[in-house]
Amino acid sequence: MTPISAHWQAVKTRIAVATRAAGRPVGTVTLLAVSKTFSAAHVKACHAAGQIAFGENYVQEALEKIAALAGSLANPAIEWHMIGPIQSNKTRSIAEHFAWVHSVERDKIAQRLNDARPAHLPPLNVCIQVNVSGETSKSGIAPGAEIALADMIATLPRLRLRGLMAIPEPTPDGAVRRARFALLRRLQQALIARGHPLDTLSMGMSDDLEDAIAEGATVVRVGTAIFGARETQ
Ligand SMILES: *Cc1c(COP(=O)(O)O)cnc(C)c1O
Repeated sequence: MTPISAHWQAVKTRIAVATRAAGRPVGTVTLLAVSKTFSAAHVKACHAAGQIAFGENYVQEALEKIAALAGSLANPAIEWHMIGPIQSNKTRSIAEHFAWVHSVERDKIAQRLNDARPAHLPPLNVCIQVNVSGETSKSGIAPGAEIALADMIATLPRLRLRGLMAIPEPTPDGAVRRARFALLRRLQQALIARGHPLDTLSMGMSDDLEDAIAEGATVVRVGTAIFGARETQ
């Protein structure tokens, strides 16, 4: 086993253990491998271990990896998820090359992604990013504002609203961590009650995926625990 496949397997085990501990059926939490700052070769090693879905924060960096890997994978199935802040001049590239966007936080971006989604591809899966920690430094819309944005996205035929995403501030206080994740879950449930057919709660990273799974995460986004420490950011 390569170090990446061993780390990947360890993360899969952490997810299964946490899912069982939460009394949830194993297999209800999927792993998004966050490959930002790591090379196409790293992605390829993780993909060879069995990983299909990869998360990227920077469009240009992702496009380079997508091009480098095209035609070179033993199993051609690979799925790219945009998880970083979105600039409006990047919406076309995102709509053309990604299967999911976790970080939608503005009407204008949703509209542009919808308009640019190519007709030969299925609707783009999207999550609304909510700022559950109330920090000015973090992206995401304020809790409550996701309702109007969800209603707007539901009118866009080339987008499929799947759920909510959050990046809570790091804290050593487990109760605070759990409360942030629980808030996102309550917001999702309110949208479901409003008639939005959501199935996704994208929350939890290398350091807090167990708490996120305990509070209902369906997708955990894990970078460091698979690929190692990042040199930048
Ligand atoms: C970098 C990043 C992650 C992964 O964080 P790790 O702590 O390395 O697991 C998850 N989600 C988002 C949005 C990120 O930017």
